[in-house]
Amino acid sequence: MAHIIDGKQIAADLVADVAAGAQAIYAAHGVKPGLAVVLVGEDPASQVYVRNKVARATEAGLNSIEHKLPVDTTQATLNALVDELNNDPAVHGILVQLPLPAQLNEEEIIARIAPHKDVDGFHPVNVGELVVGNASLVPCTPQGCLIMLQKTLGDLSGKHAVVIGRSNIVGKPMAMLLLHANCTVTIVHSRTRNAEALCKEADIVVAAVGRAEMVDAAWIKPGATVIDVGINVTEIDGKRKLLGDVNFADVEPLAYAITPVPGGVGPMTIACLMNNTLIAARNQLAG
Ligand code: NDP
Repeated sequence: MAHIIDGKQIAADLVADVAAGAQAIYAAHGVKPGLAVVLVGEDPASQVYVRNKVARATEAGLNSIEHKLPVDTTQATLNALVDELNNDPAVHGILVQLPLPAQLNEEEIIARIAPHKDVDGFHPVNVGELVVGNASLVPCTPQGCLIMLQKTLGDLSGKHAVVIGRSNIVGKPMAMLLLHANCTVTIVHSRTRNAEALCKEADIVVAAVGRAEMVDAAWIKPGATVIDVGINVTEIDGKRKLLGDVNFADVEPLAYAITPVPGGVGPMTIACLMNNTLIAARNQLAG
């Protein structure tokens, strides 16, 4: 039986640390770390994510400011809001919920957010800092995965990690964080030959694909640790169900440790967003 990595508990501990840090900032400066969350349109999944982020922020003692814009918002309007938030000293972190409606240019928005307020860690400046190993604001999902791996395995040096997926928000920054943690890293993607065989050699597998239960026991070396980033919404017997990218029932008996879906990576992503807001506030208040 694998050790089930309790993302909810690890996230709750991190949020408690953030709350203590936020209190210390309030005691020293008389301000709460401020997180502005921008939602454009009414995508149901995005609405749930934003609601969760705002609720968690309040719980962590942050000041969360929600901006809801209509689905037909223009680039000029969104740019103007980002500029306003960049210049607002009460706002230490800015998150624009992705994906944006089709008329809006995501790259332009990501690059417009001031790098020191970019709590998603997607700005090219922060991406560069991550690559050279100086990162202050790291993308939340891979950061959450790394924390869970270190809590479970301790020092990751020398371990062979395979990351499935190469997106800018999960796969690539995950690979970079694992490299900085001294893993030997392989990235597999849709054009990789023998992805299954490569995964089967790994001590650590991080699956960030977006394909329900693609990774089954045939992909996993006995004793490996498996982090399942995937969130795939499916309907089973008329009921809505969240499935990961890993077939949990198949992999769990042979893994050393594994994250569940839900209750693994999801809560850690939000906790890391709170932590990034605290880091951003500390950096800004330090001058
Ligand atoms: P993307 O769609 O941006 O990237 C998916 C990656 O998987 C791509 O690099 C793609 O390769 C690769 N891929 C697709 N098919 C295969 C295959 N058959 N074999 C190997 N690789 C393959 O997704 P994201 O990175 O944004 O998200 C991945 C998953 O994680 C999704 O389910 C998403 O919902 C979830 N997610 C969960 C979060 C959380 O907080 N828990 C946060 C963010 C995402 P290629 O580049 O060649 O196309």
